[in-house]
Amino acid sequence: MTLPATTRFAPSPTGFLHLGHVVSGLYSRIMAGESGRFLIRIEDIDTTRCTPELTAALREDLDWLELSSDAPVRQQSRHLSEYHAVLETLRKRGLLYPCFCTRREIADAATQTAPDGSVVYPGTCRHGAVHAGREPVWRLDMGRAIDVLQEVPGWQELGHGRIAGQAGTFGDIVLARRDTGVSYHLCVTHDDALQGVTTVTRGRDLYEATSVQRVLQDLMGWPEPVYAHHALIMDADGQKLSKRDGAEGVRVLRQKGWTARQVLEHPLVRQALKESFIPAGRSPDR
Ligand code: GLU
Repeated sequence: MTLPATTRFAPSPTGFLHLGHVVSGLYSRIMAGESGRFLIRIEDIDTTRCTPELTAALREDLDWLELSSDAPVRQQSRHLSEYHAVLETLRKRGLLYPCFCTRREIADAATQTAPDGSVVYPGTCRHGAVHAGREPVWRLDMGRAIDVLQEVPGWQELGHGRIAGQAGTFGDIVLARRDTGVSYHLCVTHDDALQGVTTVTRGRDLYEATSVQRVLQDLMGWPEPVYAHHALIMDADGQKLSKRDGAEGVRVLRQKGWTARQVLEHPLVRQALKESFIPAGRSPDR
């Protein structure tokens, strides 16, 4: 017997709720099923892009859609000390190092690109470097992390089986950014573990990120969730939908007189769900 799933929808309020979010929220709700738990988490650690106004608007649109969380909504910006505690643990184990390089210096020295398209850090500061007057970022020493784990962890992708991880090809990723002091990978894995998320549901644009997040889970001894990456809404050219092609905000549709049901059943939303793995017995129809 499998236990009921706990899923989560974790939007970042960098703009208004759009149809891509609707797919993610709905998919997460569907994957929780009747007996599971569906959680909403606001990932607003990037205070340069997320504002309280956008958070309020996002939550208001979700309420209007009646996509409600089965537990109190967690807002990451209110839990920074918890993420700092994880950094401290990793630092004490010698798995993090400060990096003083500027973006420019990295771009000039880098020769590789990670599977998610990011530049692989060339390792300049890995063996100690200090720059008076420069604030460092903190990087995970990926080689060491893999040595400690004695393997590159993979993951279970629902409907697709076991996927081989590629963490080594990401290099030494940033776990504490200069501006926010934390990072997406750090906060997302901490919260998935803390909230007992058993099934991580999210868009295919974050598929590659899973390799990195599995390393953090294993280093911290957190449980391994299963993953289900849903299809994205694409335009006719196979590109991620742009505003021009109808990725308009839920707000705009509301103002035009759409009902919540019509938004949830938008043809682009239905199409993306149709292209995503949904176990037998679960249905996109509510
Ligand atoms: N907050 C992320 C985003 O809005 C999603 C994180 C995740 O689902 O892992 O893109």
